[in-house]
Amino acid sequence: MSESVIRIASIYPTLLGTYGDGGNVLALKHRAGLHGLVTDVVDVSPGEPLPRDCDLYVLGGGEDTAQVAAADSLRADGGMTQAVDRGAAVLAICAGYQLIGREFPDATGAPSAGVGILDIRTDRLPKRAVGELLTRPDPQAPAGLTDLLTGYENHAGATHLGPDARPLAQVEFGVGNGDVSEGAISGHVMGTYLHGPCLARNPQIADVLLGWVVGEQLPHIAEREVEELRAERLEFVRRSGR
Ligand code: GLN
Repeated sequence: MSESVIRIASIYPTLLGTYGDGGNVLALKHRAGLHGLVTDVVDVSPGEPLPRDCDLYVLGGGEDTAQVAAADSLRADGGMTQAVDRGAAVLAICAGYQLIGREFPDATGAPSAGVGILDIRTDRLPKRAVGELLTRPDPQAPAGLTDLLTGYENHAGATHLGPDARPLAQVEFGVGNGDVSEGAISGHVMGTYLHGPCLARNPQIADVLLGWVVGEQLPHIAEREVEELRAERLEFVRRSGR
């Protein structure tokens, strides 16, 4: 296993980070520590150049106007496209997920240009999706994703995958992309509507991202608190009439 430090960029946490999405970076640090990996996190503010040398770039959710500002700033910077071209990993949640795609609706519903590192397009759902989201990893999902994926969704976007993206998961409860699929993956770029924070509730996703960085699948390490949280959330969904 690599002795080197895993560099993680937390992109615009002041603009993107609804519903505790900042916890994804903490979960990554924690999971990396369990695997004996060392991390270094750099927070990037809007207008600051994106560091070109990170291994993993993380984006959270956000309001419609913050989302347009973040997308414009990232497109002007150009660093995300370069990062993906050299094989860096990306995790993007909700607004972050929508804005790394080709286009997404602004606050008026008009299409706004995304960063274009994931082959998805987002338009509006007929009705906002709010509540628990439970999914089953897609058969094409990366090795190591075997558990149900649990989280919380709050978005108005219907996301359509192009031929260069494949779904992360299939919806068991909730809305996700709006067509029974949830999230998208292309290469080492992953987007999802799962808040929670996603990586605290789904450590297997954290391990997939870290595994992409170190170039090998990481072993499963269960933690009691996480299993208890997951069990409680799964029970809640079951009681809600799944
Ligand atoms: N603004 C986007 C939407 O409503 C994303 C919201 C979010 O990130 N929670 O679809």
